[in-house]
Amino acid sequence: MKPSPKMWRNNRILPLSKSASFTFHQGLNYGACVYEGIRFYDTKNGPALFRLKEHVARFLYSASVLRMKPPLRARSVEEAIKKVIRQNKLRSGYVRPMAYYSEAKMGINVIGSKITFDVFVWKWKDVIREKPVTLGISKLRRLDPETVDLKAKISGYYANGILGFIDARERGFDEPLFLDTRGFVAEGAVNNIFVVKKGIIYTPPLTNILAGITRDTVIEIARGLGYTVREKLFLPEFLSGAEEIFLTGTGIELKSVSRIDRFFSGGPAKGHVNIAVSECYRAATRGDLPRYKKWLTPIA
Ligand code: PMP
Repeated sequence: MKPSPKMWRNNRILPLSKSASFTFHQGLNYGACVYEGIRFYDTKNGPALFRLKEHVARFLYSASVLRMKPPLRARSVEEAIKKVIRQNKLRSGYVRPMAYYSEAKMGINVIGSKITFDVFVWKWKDVIREKPVTLGISKLRRLDPETVDLKAKISGYYANGILGFIDARERGFDEPLFLDTRGFVAEGAVNNIFVVKKGIIYTPPLTNILAGITRDTVIEIARGLGYTVREKLFLPEFLSGAEEIFLTGTGIELKSVSRIDRFFSGGPAKGHVNIAVSECYRAATRGDLPRYKKWLTPIA
């Protein structure tokens, strides 16, 4: 059912046809949208996408959870991503493929609705900002795996992240850290967390978080460097006495945490594990480590 021909935007009446009636769709109204964030880096052999296969697999999985039809195909998504990068003549940057229910349709019955697939690309500042972040433990708990499929990256879920973020900012922290509904540490609004204690690296298991691709990369790199990495459920009290804590995500790569509420105070210096893993991560993304070339897909 299409809206009536005249609508209001900001401060005046507009004819629907000229006013992007497109914004009245289920993707925006109900968050029925899936997306990915993918980095590509300038390597010696030209620009290459980092962990493209894994990002596209997660994208297709998210789309399948929302029953998007016709199903997106890995090959065509990969081709579209490469084409947009080539057309923009970029050597490194950030890509965002999105698929969303795009009919001006009232109600949540998305089944059979039209979908739109878009890919946007940004030039990305390659300098990693060194300033560590502070985290406030969110009063709101992370979405529960009994209520949503946490393996999917669905826009609607980010209402939880945004509310936690607003709360954290209003309490003077940079970002929120979410506990799951049982009180275990889960993840940030858009990143995963790692805690180093007595030289061992801990991170929450996949049961209560989004399976971050950077998280997976960091685990493999850290193990490759000889560190012990344990996936473990832990309470916020476990953060006390940590040697270092960092966040991971496609955009931020690894980011130091300087404080978490009343549980952790680590100061501004980057920890040893963070430094060692970051260096290796950087080398892997630039194609300098034969062992991790498997993660790079050339764009040309
Ligand atoms: N958790 C959430 C909720 C996220 O949105 C993201 C960003 N995709 C992450 C963790 C980190 O995932 P990735 O390393 O794949 O970017």
